[in-house]
Formats: sequence, structure tokens, C-alpha cells
Amino acid sequence: MMKAVVNYAGGAGSVELREVEVPAVRGPKEIVIQVMAAGVCGSDLHMYHDSQGFPVRRPVTLGHEYSGVVVEVGSEVTLFQKGDRVVSETPAYICETCVYCRTGQYNLCPSRRGYGVLEDGAMAQFLRTREAICHRIPDNVSFEAAAMTEPACVAYNAVAFHSHIRPGDDVVVFGPGPIGLMAVQAAKLFSPGRLTIVGTAKDRNRLEVAKRFGADRAVVADECDVVADILKYGDGMGPDLVLDAVGISVTLRQSIELVRPGGQITKIGWGPAPVGFSLDPLIQKAARLQGSFSHNWPMWEKVLLLMSKGELDPLPMTKLYPIDDWKKAFDEMDSLAHAKSILLPQT
Ligand SMILES: [Zn+2]
Ligand SMILES: [Zn+2]
Repeated sequence: MMKAVVNYAGGAGSVELREVEVPAVRGPKEIVIQVMAAGVCGSDLHMYHDSQGFPVRRPVTLGHEYSGVVVEVGSEVTLFQKGDRVVSETPAYICETCVYCRTGQYNLCPSRRGYGVLEDGAMAQFLRTREAICHRIPDNVSFEAAAMTEPACVAYNAVAFHSHIRPGDDVVVFGPGPIGLMAVQAAKLFSPGRLTIVGTAKDRNRLEVAKRFGADRAVVADECDVVADILKYGDGMGPDLVLDAVGISVTLRQSIELVRPGGQITKIGWGPAPVGFSLDPLIQKAARLQGSFSHNWPMWEKVLLLMSKGELDPLPMTKLYPIDDWKKAFDEMDSLAHAKSILLPQT
């Protein structure tokens, strides 16, 4: 048996540490890993509060951001062996036959089942995964940093793949949560002319982290008129790129007010509430509104390489907890004391 953080039913707070069966390899291309580090995601907190906007299966072990050591491989696994340090992507299951799976965009597979949501996840001592979604961790990258590959890839996908960004651009990031903070680091790789992070007074600690990550300015949204403040700079026409890593509609409205004519808004944060305002300014400005979701295999390889080179470093936004302290890890992250909690399932 092993320890696992299980979301056992609907209703707020229905999460507990349980003893569950250790997973074993079932198919020839599966791998079981001993989980060394597992990040707490905003989506885990949403499931904890039963406020998620996506379908879930319960009971389910939470967690989809993790790293570990290979302890068992299926008979046809060739790329990995016992003892390898690995990270694994989030889709526990994809159909392999839809047009998205066939073109490497399996993050968009309509049948995708993610860890910690529709399949048992990583806040446990062991996890069963697939050879096809594992990646080797570079020797100089710790398990804790490697467990952050997933959120780093979410940000990397939004900035490097889905955004038009050039050196010298004026870039604004809404939301200093883990994804917004990694978006700051990812944007920094493109040498923006000015990089602004927007948060609230409650985000003080996280705004400081954003500055350490390369933001030139932090704007506290509840202490000023965000739009007027940002438009004061430069030629007053607004930022070339707005990265919205917040799940409420007010930041989208502000993004549309802010964005430079011909510029782009990339929407990473999401929430089920209707937006409730006119999109006309977006059309009049001929600006682009782009969604970004998840990531795929080549992005993981690139992000791991960038972490190995020290160009991306998620650790300063994290705090570590033994798995028994999962509740503290959830509650402290929820209180915005720091951006990211990481559980250590073996301690
Ligand atoms: Zn996540
Ligand atoms: Zn598919």
C-alpha cells in the first residue's frame, strides 16, 4: 500500500490522505515511477473546493505536476530503465486516433484523460504512466525543479508558441500565480522592452517573486487604475502583448482596453463564468485574442533544456512539504503566502 492525497467526493474539502494500492504496469509500454516531488496546481485547489469548471472523476488521487524515478517498465519499453530520473506529461490517456493525436497536438485530444482529474494522479508515492510521455531529467535539475516542468510548459506554450513576441516588445502579464510567474520568465527570454506584472494587494509576496523573475514593474490592481497606469508608459498606445493568466473576466476586459491596436492578448487563465462585456474594442483595434492550453512533447524537451541551462528556474516560487502535510501545503498556497507548494511523497 502507499500514501495518496485523494479527492474522494464532491463538496468542498472532500480531500484526505489515504492508503491505496500501489499501481503496477498493465501494458507493455507503461512505466511505474516512484514520485519524488509533486506540485500543487490551482486546478487541484479548485477540486479541493469543488469549484472546478471541468469534468472530474471521484474518487481520484490529485496531482499532475511531478518527477520521480523509474521502478518498473513494461515488456516493450525501450527508452527508459529502472533507476532513470524522469518527468512525465499530464495526459494519462489519449485516443491516438483523432486528428489531434495524429498530428502531435494530443493536448487537444477530445478523449484526453489527465492525471489527477480523470485518472489517479501524482500526489502519491507511486504513479503509473506511459513511455510516450516520459522525459529524462537533466543531471543538474533537481526533482523539485523538474516537477515544475508542467507549469513551466504551460507558460512556455502560451508565450513561445501561441504569442507573437519580439525583442523590445512591451509585455504585460496579468496574475502572479505559478503560470503567470513562469510566463514572466518565458517572456524574459525574448528580451521585452518592458515587462509588467499585474496583481492585487494580496499578491505582494508573489509580485516580489515576479520582479526577481525579471518583471520591470509590478502594478497593484486594487490600488490604482490599472489601464491608465499602464497606458502612461511609452507612446501610450498600449502593450504589444498581454498575457492573461487569471481566470476571471475583469482582467480580460482590462486586457482588451489595454492592448495595442494590432497587438495580441493570449489567454491562459480560464474560469466558467460568462465574460459579460462587449468585445467590440478588440475588433476595432484589430487585435488578436488567442487561447493557449496545455503543451506537448517538444515543449517539454525544450523547457527541461532551459532549466538545465538556468534560463528557467521555478524554484524561487516554491515551498516544499512532506506528503503528510498536504493540507498545510494546499491552505498556504491558497492563502497566497507563496506561489507554489510542492509535496514530497517519500518524506
Ligand atoms: Zn497544473
Ligand atoms: Zn485523440
